[in-house]
Amino acid sequence: GARSYSFMLRTKNPCGKVSNELYLTMDDLADQFGIGTLRLTTRQTFQLHGVLKKDLKTVMSSIIRSMGSTLGACGDLNRNVLAPAAPIARKDYLFAQETAENIAALLTPQSGFYYDMWVDGEKILTAEPPEVVKARNDNSHGTNFPDSPELIYGTQFLPRKFKIAVTVPGDNSVDVLTNDIGVVVVSDENGEPQGFNIYVGGGMGRTHRLETTFPRLAEPLGYVPKDDILYAVKAIVVTQRENGRRDDRKYSRMKYLISSWGIEKFRSVVEQYYGKKFEPFRELPEWEFKSYLGWHEQGDGNLYCGLHVDNGRIGGEMKKTLREVIEKYNLNVRITPNQNLILCNIRSAWKRNITTALAQAGLLLPRYVDPLNITAMACPAFPLCPLAITEAERGIPGILKRVRAVLEKVGLKYNESVVIRVTGCPNGCARPYMAELGLVGDGPNSYQIWLGGRPNQTQLARSFMDKVKVQDLENVLEPLFYNWKRKRQSKESFGDFTTRMGFDKLKELVEKWEGPVVGPSRYNLK
Ligand code: SF4
Repeated sequence: GARSYSFMLRTKNPCGKVSNELYLTMDDLADQFGIGTLRLTTRQTFQLHGVLKKDLKTVMSSIIRSMGSTLGACGDLNRNVLAPAAPIARKDYLFAQETAENIAALLTPQSGFYYDMWVDGEKILTAEPPEVVKARNDNSHGTNFPDSPELIYGTQFLPRKFKIAVTVPGDNSVDVLTNDIGVVVVSDENGEPQGFNIYVGGGMGRTHRLETTFPRLAEPLGYVPKDDILYAVKAIVVTQRENGRRDDRKYSRMKYLISSWGIEKFRSVVEQYYGKKFEPFRELPEWEFKSYLGWHEQGDGNLYCGLHVDNGRIGGEMKKTLREVIEKYNLNVRITPNQNLILCNIRSAWKRNITTALAQAGLLLPRYVDPLNITAMACPAFPLCPLAITEAERGIPGILKRVRAVLEKVGLKYNESVVIRVTGCPNGCARPYMAELGLVGDGPNSYQIWLGGRPNQTQLARSFMDKVKVQDLENVLEPLFYNWKRKRQSKESFGDFTTRMGFDKLKELVEKWEGPVVGPSRYNLK
């Protein structure tokens, strides 16, 4: 059918920044050439599904002409660079976003083939900051690939895709530890950015029944002064280019290189390309998950408004209203790594009218959104992703309702929540291995259950049970939630509870459970 001849296209938007013009273009393209909906991704980009081959050139050139790029959105190179999406006028946030854009520019492929292909050789590029050009050209430590216009990627590019996130201390809206490189702005006591802590070696993807593949958290590499960041990032990327495995794609992400070498050896190889020693990692405060939903001050007199978008899918009435508001007030928007949308630079005089318009389309409070939905994520899976084994995006609304029903049944209040992430295969696009409850498709209508992530995404979940049929989820969740309610320590999250109890004990509780019971009375919970 048409499906097999249609394409999925991703844009590239460092920090999730989307100009007014690009948003309106994407909105039009979705209707004219796509399936009538826009999808926001977990890497702060748009995905356009269902583009036919004959329309591809028109679509790509429209995107490029409105200054959005798809360059580096897929393939074995650096993917979209994440940064906190909130347009907060604070030095560290602005610096994180600027750094994300510079890293994205540094790692953009240089050969002209891409632009030749889509806009008939007419190069449409913004000027690069001189420090980016300088860092790319610098070969004082033998980083550049010989005889190739791709100084950093060389002729064969990287062994595998590569992911980078930049953030500020405490703001883990970017899931920083799931990236190949995680960069954190470090400021002095006056809030003046001084340098960066760097984490390396995170990654989600794995293969079922292959224990040698695994999700991994990034670990501290060290600290660099702020002027060195592009050189340090380049040195890390070159280390992976030269040493990452190319014989088997299952093991070619940088996390496997670091786990086989160990962080000490990895650091010393990177230091040779960097030409300096890394300084000791600076102390950081606890990470927090930030949603940015609702109205907030930007700190420069304007407001921003974060909107919850279930699974990042914008369609129907929501799409129409968003277009009207964004067009009328000429707003720029940002896509968050949680697949939500932020409307930026809103004057306070517009707030009332915008609130009314958004509320009428069900986009703003007082609409009730279950806290489960606010932190939940699902990947596209069926029918859009060829790797899918089972449902994710289409299945998650029903799953969340059932989870809420079980929570209520065991006496947990509506404001109690659990971070739930669902993917259609072990590739892990919606980062299920960081969830408190991760469901990873492992067969038709069946999931592997992962437990033990934390609400602030700082710990890996572990695999708890395999091949749980979707219709049997309550049989597993009810005993878990019942015991969480009864045995939790003060304010203990579900993820921390499952870790503390241990999986052997939890499995016993699940196995001994006498099956679903009618009504909550039996529990005698007050
Ligand atoms: Fe496709 Fe798997 Fe990624 Fe889901 S997790 S979008 S099924 S590759």
